Amino acid sequence: MALDAQTVAKTVAFINEKWNKKECHLCGSNAWEINGFANVVLGDTTDKIDIGPTVQTLPAITVSCKTCGNTHFINAIFARLVSK
Ligand SMILES: [Zn+2]
Repeated sequence: MALDAQTVAKTVAFINEKWNKKECHLCGSNAWEINGFANVVLGDTTDKIDIGPTVQTLPAITVSCKTCGNTHFINAIFARLVSK
């Protein structure tokens, strides 16, 4: 899902402020793409879980290296890129 322009701008500002090294640690490229939101399911076990309305997720914004596909998940709440 595409992010709105404001969220993209906030994500770029976050990366420029917080990422001390912007080169991909796998391939050395500095070509990144902000992909969109990903919701990571949180659980206390590695067992399969049923996704339901009470399942907690971690809202994240994914950023991928355009050269090798290395992908980072930025916690959108901790980084204050979205409100709760
Ligand atoms: Zn890379």
